[in-house]
Amino acid sequence: MNIAADSCFIGQGPDMLDRFNSASAWERADAQWPNHEQRTLICARVSNETHDVRTFVFHTQDGQLFSFEPGQFITVSAEIDGKEVSRCYTISSPPTRPYTLSITVKRTPGGVMSNWLHENMKAGLALKAFGPSGVFTPSSGPAAKSLYLSAGSGVTPLMSMTRAALDLGPNRDIVFIHSARTPEDIIFRKELSTLCGLSDPLRVIHICEALGNEPDWSGPVGRLNLDLLKELVPDFRDREVFICGPGGYMDASRKMLLEGGHDPARYHQESFNFAETVECAEEPASTTADQTERTERSEHTGYTVRLARSGREFTMDGTQTVLVAARKAGVPLPSSCSQGICGTCKTKVLEGSVDMKHNGGIRPREIEKGMRLMCCSRPTSDLVLDL
Ligand SMILES: Cc1cc2nc3c(=O)[nH]c(=O)nc-3n(C[C@H](O)[C@H](O)[C@H](O)COP(=O)(O)OP(=O)(O)OC[C@H]3O[C@@H](n4cnc5c(N)ncnc54)[C@H](O)[C@@H]3O)c2cc1C
Repeated sequence: MNIAADSCFIGQGPDMLDRFNSASAWERADAQWPNHEQRTLICARVSNETHDVRTFVFHTQDGQLFSFEPGQFITVSAEIDGKEVSRCYTISSPPTRPYTLSITVKRTPGGVMSNWLHENMKAGLALKAFGPSGVFTPSSGPAAKSLYLSAGSGVTPLMSMTRAALDLGPNRDIVFIHSARTPEDIIFRKELSTLCGLSDPLRVIHICEALGNEPDWSGPVGRLNLDLLKELVPDFRDREVFICGPGGYMDASRKMLLEGGHDPARYHQESFNFAETVECAEEPASTTADQTERTERSEHTGYTVRLARSGREFTMDGTQTVLVAARKAGVPLPSSCSQGICGTCKTKVLEGSVDMKHNGGIRPREIEKGMRLMCCSRPTSDLVLDL
């Protein structure tokens, strides 16, 4: 039989393009994992991406499939030195491969969870995690043409999107510009170059600040700027931009895009950094009732918050979360998602009361014991915290 003669080219149906850009299309009835539900993942394998970045691949304990949107994160928890520690990690694998889920973690100097994962997580070991969450996904800005910008470990959500896009067909028009310190710091370098070979419209450009141990690096050197962007992506104004990386990089990129005439409504960013996440999450969408309540609370401008262990103290009004006010007062508290999901900022309120609107990051029995999430708690009296 002549296979070539019997086959015909059908192309990439509109359903596949729609699927990529639609939140509901990624939902699988056989794989529901709500973000407030903690499950046990089993590590299937660990691989080195760079000298300080590793990918950890997991499957479920009961063989259930995973369901999430490309770009979402999970919140992993582990007992480290006798303390329960939780951190958010973006899912770097695509939802099109639902049997496993991977996270790609960069070691943070002095960091608790990232170093613990690098040093301890191995095939066969278990890790607890809350289900997928987050709105940095293609469905937040459906578009036919995208520009992905990332730096450092900010590559992970864009890698999930790129892998998903290519799994659904080779025709998505994506330009992916990733900035790294040196060529040997480029995460997913080989895979991205392979993916480029599989898809004509996918273009991947790596920009390195320095040559490091690769003096024959032939790509752009330095930082992304408007002239370089215009040269590399002349149609950048027509593209939906998704960006993830360190705060300074995102600030500079945002300014560059505005200056270049890119429509800010077509700009989407994800921050891994506590400070920026807190700024973004400071005033989440609120109901009229919430706003009325806040206006009443704002009339009371002088709540005192005392940290019992460190003896530090600051004042705040009732409209801000304790986390935001603490940061503004120069007292950084532990935090990760800033959305009441991950539980990193869980703190015991020793005296006083707060109004907490969480998203499942704290259990009823913890609330009974006086614990609260500082990222979504606003004071209704003076406070003493166990910090
Ligand atoms: C939505 C989201 C997605 C993310 N996705 C990824 C991802 O895909 N890959 C990835 O690598 N990371 C990701 N992150 C970041 C990740 O959650 C962690 O923040 C990161 O791994 C560092 O955690 P850690 O426990 O190792 O460091 P931490 O222990 O939280 O420490 C962070 C830094 O603060 C310092 N520090 C710690 N405690 C104190 C203190 N009391 N006072 C002063 N300084 C202190 C540490 O020395 C270190 O420099 C994501 C974050 C978010 C919010």
